[in-house]
Amino acid sequence: MDYSTILFEDEFEADCELCDICGNDAMPRSGYNEKQDLLKFECPECGGIFIEDGKGDTVIVRGEKRDWPKYLAENLNFPFDAIVMEASDEEMFGIGKPGPIRYGDVLTVMSVDFEDALYGVLVTVKKGRKKYSFPLMDLAAKDKDSHNAKLISKYGTLLSSW
Ligand SMILES: [Zn+2]
Repeated sequence: MDYSTILFEDEFEADCELCDICGNDAMPRSGYNEKQDLLKFECPECGGIFIEDGKGDTVIVRGEKRDWPKYLAENLNFPFDAIVMEASDEEMFGIGKPGPIRYGDVLTVMSVDFEDALYGVLVTVKKGRKKYSFPLMDLAAKDKDSHNAKLISKYGTLLSSW
């Protein structure tokens, strides 16, 4: 479908969606086409434009999906301190032997490691003198107002929506 020929009307009803490109969870609806039952969303943060049909299927008409491991490697400021936000099953239920990294630990994040199908982006972290690979989504930047904190939280929002 050629979306450029479709007319969208402004609508007053406030409605927000999650931007599938940058993870902004307050992307406003910018238009509505009643005849074809299409909604248009425009992300003020990354400039992405999305069209959603009546069945809830969405296409990106401007912008493209991010290569998150690459994007995070280029846009996070390394190294930085992060707090472990998730307890392992071993730690939580007292079964087996908990790993070396525990809930509430403060780690130094050194770099992006690789992307895992289950856990998303893994980062190389340092605890004491040892290095480990750890899921980024289980970490929060220690400086809550930092650029890194915002980026990690957006990535986490996106990851849990996929
Ligand atoms: Zn966006």
